Amino acid sequence: MPKRRKKRVVEVILSIIFISIISVLGLGKINEIKPDYQENVILEGNADNFLKIYFFDVGQADSILITHNNENILIDAGTNEMGTTVVKKLQDLGITKLNYVIGTHPHEDHIGGLDDVIQNFEIEHIYMPKVQTNMKTFEEVLDAVIDKGMKIETPNVGDGFAIGEVNCEIMQCGTGTKEEQENLNLSSIVLRATYKEQSYLFMGDSEKENEQARKWEKTNVLKVGHHGSSTSTSEEFLKQVSPQIAIISVGKDNNYGHPSDEIIKRLEQEGISIYRTDEKGTIVITSDGKQNQISWERK
Ligand SMILES: [Zn+2]
Repeated sequence: MPKRRKKRVVEVILSIIFISIISVLGLGKINEIKPDYQENVILEGNADNFLKIYFFDVGQADSILITHNNENILIDAGTNEMGTTVVKKLQDLGITKLNYVIGTHPHEDHIGGLDDVIQNFEIEHIYMPKVQTNMKTFEEVLDAVIDKGMKIETPNVGDGFAIGEVNCEIMQCGTGTKEEQENLNLSSIVLRATYKEQSYLFMGDSEKENEQARKWEKTNVLKVGHHGSSTSTSEEFLKQVSPQIAIISVGKDNNYGHPSDEIIKRLEQEGISIYRTDEKGTIVITSDGKQNQISWERK
């Protein structure tokens, strides 16, 4: 073999080895990020310190876990039927204590599973808006709270608290007005969480009236209000929040036609990436405070 040709062969072999090593390293990273990932976002720092937000697939309902440095917030617990599933999902994650449990508003698709959660975990605070209903599911939650020797707290707008290094602010909370009593969605607790440079807005089932009632800061990730219904996510609100990522918690083929085509179109027009629990199953956001990595259950 001529010397030049030999050199070329050696170069090719070295390139193949080099590319293989890079691929293996790359794949190793991807495999760590189970079960799937949005794009090749490489998070910096120790994975134990990352913020994690789980948007559990609970069908046509909401249940969200925010966890950082072994401290936890649970926002809603799905329907009555889903209660034991939510409990199991939390137990599978090794959770025994919830620092904050938020029942955004007393509708069955949000607080249905709360009694199971209350019975199964150590809990520091339970937040709910100040509205009443005679629905059985609400009474079951009240009974579970009483049995636990706890009290439901109603936070005020502007109240702040933290888990780990995640700062939270109550953006909205029902006070029991006539309008809220007639449409419980309007009483929804809305929470904004900030972790370093990243922010997250959890809308519950709040509607346009709520969106118009205050100013909203720019936020990276929006948990879309009311399962993507056209009653929420008004244009003006979306312009103010201007998220990069929208999460919709919604059941496949639900009776309400959620999410509405109009809202999906509105989000797409703003160039917002949409992730839906009916399509992806449980969706997980992992953040180092600079970037968000998204993974999900279904391939
Ligand atoms: Zn709902």
